[in-house]
Amino acid sequence: MPSPLSVSGSCRCGAVQFQAQLVHEKVVNCHCRTCQKISGSAFIAYMIADPQHYHLVAGTEARQHYQSSSDVQRPFCGTCSSSLPIVDTGIQQVFIPASLIDQGLEALSPQVALHMFMAENPRWHEVGDTAAQFAQFPKT
Ligand SMILES: [Zn+2]
Ligand SMILES: [Zn+2]
Repeated sequence: MPSPLSVSGSCRCGAVQFQAQLVHEKVVNCHCRTCQKISGSAFIAYMIADPQHYHLVAGTEARQHYQSSSDVQRPFCGTCSSSLPIVDTGIQQVFIPASLIDQGLEALSPQVALHMFMAENPRWHEVGDTAAQFAQFPKT
């Protein structure tokens, strides 16, 4: 039986497809400048998987990478430019842009659990929920 936290997703054009098992139902909103630039918005909402349970099903050849900092590579679809899941091998987490997920969330209760990099949040965006806010990356 598949895990209740199993999800599948894709980029806008469908060239890149993936399957993952989330570690929980929490949504993490990253308000860092890079996420702002890449999305053109105030933040990117991510859901978290662990690297062992994240698999690309299609689109290896469509995937391109942008090295946004010394330790973070941001993959994107070379055809439609969708931001793709970021595999952080350092902290063993995959940051899946929540909007890429097509199936699996309907049975869950995803909720925004925290906001990170609020020090970089644009002045025009006011957070409208009571989830915890962290100036940088939360230290656990
Ligand atoms: Zn695409
Ligand atoms: Zn970010």
